Amino acid sequence: MSEQKTVYLADYRPYSHVVESVDLTFRLHPTATRVVARLSLRQNPARKDRDHLRLDGEGLKLISCKLDGQAITPAVDERSLTIAAHELPDGPFILETEVEIAPEANTALEGLYMSKGMYCTQCEAEGFRKITYYPDRPDVMSRFKVRIESDLPVLLSNGNPVASGEGWAEWDDPWPKPAYLFALVAGDLRAHSASFVTASGRPVDLNIWVRPGDEDRCAYAMDSLIRSMRWDEQVYGREYDLDVFNIVAVDDFNMGAMENKGLNIFNSRYVLASPETATDDDYYRIEAIIAHEYFHNWTGNRITCRDWFQLCLKEGLTVFRDHQFSADMRSAAVRRIEDVVTLRSRQFREDDGPLAHPVRPESFVEINNFYTATVYEKGAEVIGMLKSLVGDAGYKRALDLYFERHDGDAATIEDWLKVFEDATGRDLSQFKLWYSEAGTPRLKVEETWDNGVYTLTFTQKNPPTPGQPIKHPKVIPIKVGLLNPNGDEVVPTITLEMTRAKQSFRFEGLAARPVPSILRGFSAPVVLDRKAPPEERAFLLAHDTDAFNKWEAGRALAKEVMADIALKGAPVSPAWLDALAAVTFDDTLDPAFRALCLRLPGEDDIAQTIHAMGRIPDPAKIHAARREMTGALAIRLGEGLSRLYKDLDDNAPFSPSAAQAGRRALKIAALGLLSRRDGGKLAASAFARARSMTEEVGALSALLEVGQGQAELVSFAARWGRDANVMDKWHALQIAHAEPAEAAAVAARLIGAPGFDWKNPNRFRTVIGALAANHAGFHHRSGAGYRLVADWLLKLDPLNPQTAARVSTAFETWPRYDAARRKLARTELERILAAPDLSGDLREMAERMLAAG
Ligand SMILES: [Zn+2]
Repeated sequence: MSEQKTVYLADYRPYSHVVESVDLTFRLHPTATRVVARLSLRQNPARKDRDHLRLDGEGLKLISCKLDGQAITPAVDERSLTIAAHELPDGPFILETEVEIAPEANTALEGLYMSKGMYCTQCEAEGFRKITYYPDRPDVMSRFKVRIESDLPVLLSNGNPVASGEGWAEWDDPWPKPAYLFALVAGDLRAHSASFVTASGRPVDLNIWVRPGDEDRCAYAMDSLIRSMRWDEQVYGREYDLDVFNIVAVDDFNMGAMENKGLNIFNSRYVLASPETATDDDYYRIEAIIAHEYFHNWTGNRITCRDWFQLCLKEGLTVFRDHQFSADMRSAAVRRIEDVVTLRSRQFREDDGPLAHPVRPESFVEINNFYTATVYEKGAEVIGMLKSLVGDAGYKRALDLYFERHDGDAATIEDWLKVFEDATGRDLSQFKLWYSEAGTPRLKVEETWDNGVYTLTFTQKNPPTPGQPIKHPKVIPIKVGLLNPNGDEVVPTITLEMTRAKQSFRFEGLAARPVPSILRGFSAPVVLDRKAPPEERAFLLAHDTDAFNKWEAGRALAKEVMADIALKGAPVSPAWLDALAAVTFDDTLDPAFRALCLRLPGEDDIAQTIHAMGRIPDPAKIHAARREMTGALAIRLGEGLSRLYKDLDDNAPFSPSAAQAGRRALKIAALGLLSRRDGGKLAASAFARARSMTEEVGALSALLEVGQGQAELVSFAARWGRDANVMDKWHALQIAHAEPAEAAAVAARLIGAPGFDWKNPNRFRTVIGALAANHAGFHHRSGAGYRLVADWLLKLDPLNPQTAARVSTAFETWPRYDAARRKLARTELERILAAPDLSGDLREMAERMLAAG
């Protein structure tokens, strides 16, 4: 591998040329596909100088090159094809190249590759350069026409179908787009079809293409697509703009899904669902990801990013939109809680370690390494704050202006903030720090009560992160409500706008000292540092009118209890047990909400909390503390648990609805606790009569957690052995429930089993991801967890560097542990770096992680 250079945002220059149109012809062949690209080019008037023409290209065999019909010999190296400025005509010209590529040998799954006999593409971020010579950057937008020649029956590309015959098909995309949105699929596929009529009356054919036999598992994805299309019309006024919308499910895929114009390509895991094979969580994810990719049609495709530093422009906004959609389709409170759990476990963790970077980074080596929780999840939170600050009406005006002003553009964060300034008259220069500074702000709270005047004083601390030692005070919208000691709300939710490092807010005319409910709805992605006695947390868990903060009170209490047990060997707090019991048996509360309250904080989350206290987390002690809490809870909830389980165990016909999913979640939580008491007897019978994958997995999980379930594992494998996506659950469960000392060995046995397809990204991520998520197992003092993950990263890297680099984030928290563990982790990271022919992707990650230690 040649050395890769660091790219800087500050170095941006427009491209030398404009690509008026692109005509592509593909003659598909597994080992020798020919790609003919005909580009209509002219000098870019935005550039004063007359520059050479440099096209990106990697791993291409150049067959021929013609400039205005004349054969030429351009300069070609490992990464590009260049024609000197003096060889270029003054006016517009046509450049035609023909290259040969080998899709079957493409194990990196970037560019054109094969998955079980089917051709497919993945071009974001820089995969198109592995297909043909082209200016592979998002600000070069052009109109694409595509001709595919192949014996395979289904031949798809972007845009609308224009003509087809025996062994060929032609597609035309009327909307100019960057190369990263190009897609091609060819295979023996079947369609699950439907139709849609847009608000202005345009009929659209909808197809979900899958392998033969999978057609009957597409109904939920199709229903989700139709609801997404309608929702985007109703909420954002955005209509679909082509005659067809195609989705293809692919088994070998590096990401979740890809929003290619008119031809979304999906990891099959996020398309296929039936009650027997998909859990409620799978259903939720399918709905959310279908919506996300569809919403990109406007936020990403019609308006794209000028350069990859602006990735959050399309991803932050589209994640924000898919969160809004899920909140409208399901319980908004439950969705908000789940989204914050994800944010904290992935993004706060990233922000707290060596890989911390701003929502809009200012440099990168490999852009694939910046498809991160910070860009996606924090990027969405930043938009949520913006919406709180300008209000719903201001947000709507700004978005309307954004679509009107920038349709067809490759835009920047500056463009995005400018529409908010112009639409609302607000100065957002301080707010912009959220895009440029990394790290999670910490918010300290002090209160005073004096003669009917209650004062809240906030102090924000913005911790240093790699490359950014000095930080500035941020604009933080803090939603606050006040409760009377009797539980009534005396001040309903208001938004306090904090702009300084330290700031006070006064509330007058109160009869009694109130109990504050701070950061309602998690109104900003910050850590709230506020000591509160357990009684106050229990009070808020019982009385807060804000569902998020109600849950948060219980969560904060559980975290304090767990940290106290792990650090001081404290007993399980009766106040926590009583408060949780009250919520668990409160039938007026949504079952999904009660299930969320029963889910204890993750061990990695507690390690992060302990680290933030300036202490060193001990994974073994945290693990033991969590077990102890679960055991004490099972005893405290007592016989009520059996009653609760029976009430929820009804015979209603299956529906993937949020309401039914919530009941199942609570039932499974109860079953897990009951297993602590009966050794898994009830869970064994629940497994035997499970009517959905949610129940099957829930029962199996309850059994494994109490050291049972071996027979059930065998029967599960016998039933689902041929469905790899379902078997991922089987693999993940065994590793998740393995004893810490055994976890690495269990993972090694599974991933090394004959016939296990570890080269498939879903399989690899499942096993290595499950081991990394088994906190006490991965960080076991033997070092076996670190060693196994490093071994397999090194094995995958030569084949698929992108997935290897992403999975390597398992190591991102290593500096927070004790010296012995740090030494073990450092040894593995150094071993990775010492590997010959290490990819640029994995090298960048290992170097960044090591730099922190
Ligand atoms: Zn996206």
